[in-house]
Amino acid sequence: MSLTQRILIAMGLGLAIGAVLQWAALPEGHFVNTFLLHGVIDGGGRIFVTLLKMLVVPLVFVSLVCGAASLGDTGSVGRLGGKTIGLYLLTTSVAVSMAMLIALTTDPGLGGDSIADAAATSTFEPKTVPSVKETLINIVPGNPIAAMADGQMLQVILFALLFGLALSKAGASGVTLRSFFADLNDVMMRLITMIIALTPIGVFCLMTKLGATLGLAEIGKVVMYFVTIVLALSLHAALVYPLLLKSLTGLNPLIFLSKMREALLVALSTSSSGATLPVTLRTVEHKLGVQNNVASFAVPLGATVNMDGTAIMQGVATIFIAQFYGIDLGLSALLTVVLTATLASIGTAAVPGVGLITLTLVLDQVGLPVEGIALIIGVDRLLDMLRTAVNVTGDATVATIVASSEGQLDQAVFNAKEADSAPQPASS
Ligand code: ASP
Repeated sequence: MSLTQRILIAMGLGLAIGAVLQWAALPEGHFVNTFLLHGVIDGGGRIFVTLLKMLVVPLVFVSLVCGAASLGDTGSVGRLGGKTIGLYLLTTSVAVSMAMLIALTTDPGLGGDSIADAAATSTFEPKTVPSVKETLINIVPGNPIAAMADGQMLQVILFALLFGLALSKAGASGVTLRSFFADLNDVMMRLITMIIALTPIGVFCLMTKLGATLGLAEIGKVVMYFVTIVLALSLHAALVYPLLLKSLTGLNPLIFLSKMREALLVALSTSSSGATLPVTLRTVEHKLGVQNNVASFAVPLGATVNMDGTAIMQGVATIFIAQFYGIDLGLSALLTVVLTATLASIGTAAVPGVGLITLTLVLDQVGLPVEGIALIIGVDRLLDMLRTAVNVTGDATVATIVASSEGQLDQAVFNAKEADSAPQPASS
């Protein structure tokens, strides 16, 4: 059985068992709850996510040092960075604009009583979000070791990039270190392959927990909001990305999506593009054929700042809250939403549920009540899964497009039939 099949079975089985547990509603102190659900299964899921997170800092650092070291030779860092960041910004603003247009057609906030009911049963505590200026200053690591220890990804990315560039210019003194990092990169890729082999077990645990705790009744209260976001996410993933990919690279989007499946399943199960990063990076390099010097920069940067799915949610949520409170957003307010949702999604950490917190930034900017978030908090768990999958697809799409435009894409690898779960040879 292929790895994807095993993951899918684990997902279905986990959800089914979880749903049965929810239906059975065993008392809290029951053996099944204490030992299995809150014990082995909860622990198993958390260990899996932590194992993935364990890889992120060393992987990004090592891989990006290798990438930047070889980029430094060609002098193409600026162009590559410009293209990548430009495409990330473009896709995110397209995503939020499209989502708002759809929301203005479906009017998700005009649901009346049922929405008010959703507000009555939940609360939202606004948190303060750092300003854009603070965010920019925070990209520079005062202490790179502290940045790594705290998992400050933008700081780690900047340091690795500068370190790799210095390495490329170090001449003879850099030779040993370059080959050391290249070897280390191979070892990290091996480690990812080992941890990916555990995905079916991890996904089973995460899905069982989800099935046992998810309340679907909440969706009924804000059904149009839910449907609008699912529609916008689907259009973005199944139309915008494939069109971009096809028109800018000529590559077959179906092959792209099929090769992304393991990364997408991990994104769905973990709701974290950060935790999915090792799988995304491995997929982009080994299955889509993007060379390390592009992938090592574009994928970690994308996982940290490129959140099209999150921006879609924020665009729809803003329209929804404005409509519910009967506040009319004029054209300039709508344009402000496009801008701030793009920035807010950049500032969203790649972990579960943060998109809802940075939504406060967008609401504040156009004077909408932040308490409105209480209306949608109940359905965010499921939407978070879906938008994370879109976030991850966006990172891989942009990495592939940039690699193709830079002549750094191995088309033979992209088009090759894959041996699903077999360990891939490590890249150089
Ligand atoms: N969970 C999302 C991610 O990791 C972020 C969010 O929208 O909350 O990509």
